Amino acid sequence: MKRWNGWGNVETIYPLSPSAEGYLADRLGSLTPQPDASYESALKSVPASRLPAHPLVDTTPEARLTHARGQSLPDWVALRTGDIQAFPDGVAFPSSDDQVQALLLFAKQAGALVIPYGGGSSVVGHINPPGTDSPVLTLSLERMTRLLELDEIGHTAIFEAGVSGPALESQLAQHGYTLGHFPQSHEYSTLGGWVATRSSGQQSYHYGRIEQLFAGGHVETPRGPLELPHFPASAAGPDLRELVLGSEGRLGVITRARVRIRPQPQAEQFHGIFFPTWEQGVEAVRTMVQEELPVSMLRLSNPQETATTLILSGKSWVGTADRGLKLIGYGDRRCLLVFGLTGSASLVARTRRQVAAVARRFRGLFVGPVVGHTWQKSRFLSPYLRNTLWECGVAIDTIETALPWANVMEASHAIPAAIVEAARGRGEQVLAFNHLSHLYRDGASVYTTFLFRRLRDPQELLALWNDMKRPGSQTLQRLGGTITHQHGVGSDHAPYLPAEKGYLGMDALRVACQSFDPDGMMNPGKLF
Ligand SMILES: Cc1cc2nc3c(=O)[nH]c(=O)nc-3n(C[C@H](O)[C@H](O)[C@H](O)COP(=O)(O)OP(=O)(O)OC[C@H]3O[C@@H](n4cnc5c(N)ncnc54)[C@H](O)[C@@H]3O)c2cc1C
Repeated sequence: MKRWNGWGNVETIYPLSPSAEGYLADRLGSLTPQPDASYESALKSVPASRLPAHPLVDTTPEARLTHARGQSLPDWVALRTGDIQAFPDGVAFPSSDDQVQALLLFAKQAGALVIPYGGGSSVVGHINPPGTDSPVLTLSLERMTRLLELDEIGHTAIFEAGVSGPALESQLAQHGYTLGHFPQSHEYSTLGGWVATRSSGQQSYHYGRIEQLFAGGHVETPRGPLELPHFPASAAGPDLRELVLGSEGRLGVITRARVRIRPQPQAEQFHGIFFPTWEQGVEAVRTMVQEELPVSMLRLSNPQETATTLILSGKSWVGTADRGLKLIGYGDRRCLLVFGLTGSASLVARTRRQVAAVARRFRGLFVGPVVGHTWQKSRFLSPYLRNTLWECGVAIDTIETALPWANVMEASHAIPAAIVEAARGRGEQVLAFNHLSHLYRDGASVYTTFLFRRLRDPQELLALWNDMKRPGSQTLQRLGGTITHQHGVGSDHAPYLPAEKGYLGMDALRVACQSFDPDGMMNPGKLF
């Protein structure tokens, strides 16, 4: 069963060892776990629905509570304290294009706003009702999950857009194919959500981001259906698929998507390499990318993230490995690269040798499959740690960007420094670290995670979070980074978008949305 106020299902627990808890308390200050609001009390706070009855719309408090918030830090504060404030007035579960069309018409006639809902894994406030006078209809795609067409000659497949990562992969696996799109939220996020937020999977280096995988589709808009035909490539003016990618529910509801698929790889391996310093690690991965080594993933953690991840993993070999590495010169400044190899057995073997050879030029120490295997096993499990940390009194959030190589190093220092400095101004300590996980020939994503004490007063906790998020975001923009490499804009990043798109660009976005949605009923407040 899915958790209503945290990540994932209720059965999966990611335990935290006492030594890991001690490590966090040493760095953040004394932790004070607090009780959460109960499901029953949260249900009681759901007000009466303002929507007229409709056979496809569920107005029970249960449906409305479980679709009220996503996974951002403010969402967690709201759900855990029970102070949720805005709820959808109803949740619809259509199972066809016709039903989606009928629901858009129903919403228009009722003067309601519509929020398309995939897996609800947004971390930037994408699916939260705006709290206006108009009723809000959340439109969940959870009944639209089928594989509709498989083109084994052209290697594409059409899926209904509500299909989750595991359901999509298992349908393809039956025919020997994979999409290879594995965001860390894979367990719950959906194809429609990936397209609508321009998401990026962990092995995007091999499979491509969703932009490269999305080949066409169908959108139901308030003004009627928009068909996005599939062409392998086209010079017929601006590509409307690009308008739908990242549209965040503002144009309409994506009901199906054609995606580019690949045969299941013959071999796949993940390995670890330690570098003595961050600088050497960054130079090594830049070289690997610019020499075009055919890896499927490169994920380089900075020294703080390397230390914290190993301690939080709770693995028994960590202490021994730490002592051994220090003895041979990989001390406190060491950083860990986990890299993935995907393809034919011969390509995997050859690329592993090439990666090891480049790494040696930067004093990289190849440590084989143990570290990589540990990462692989927990790749979709680590988000569950957020539940455990929260219950121990620790809150966690992330800031992510992509910027040119010339500024990657500075950003990797300046973003955590800005967060730490802001927390200090409020008398709080914070543990902030980052990794590079999506690498390009011309730059890289810098993904910063920050952990801080869960303050007793929710308003103070939100104020602290705001005080850290703002300078972190301003710093990355000052250094020429995008406000988001993969999480999207939602409401949390909307204030930063004009700096990136400019006045004319923002105007063009607004006009494009208006042309599909003249009444402004689709997910207002997100993007702009
Ligand atoms: C633990 C965790 C790990 C994550 N890891 C990653 C990661 O590795 N990479 C990454 O890119 N992101 C990641 N995310 C962010 C999030 O999972 C992505 O943004 C994801 O693409 C959202 O998909 P969803 O189906 O949950 O969409 P939702 O959260 O339900 O919706 C997101 C937005 O898309 C719109 N939308 C959803 N479905 C449709 C549709 N069918 N038609 C029109 N609009 C639609 C919604 O209106 C909303 O604006 C992570 C989030 C969490 C909580």
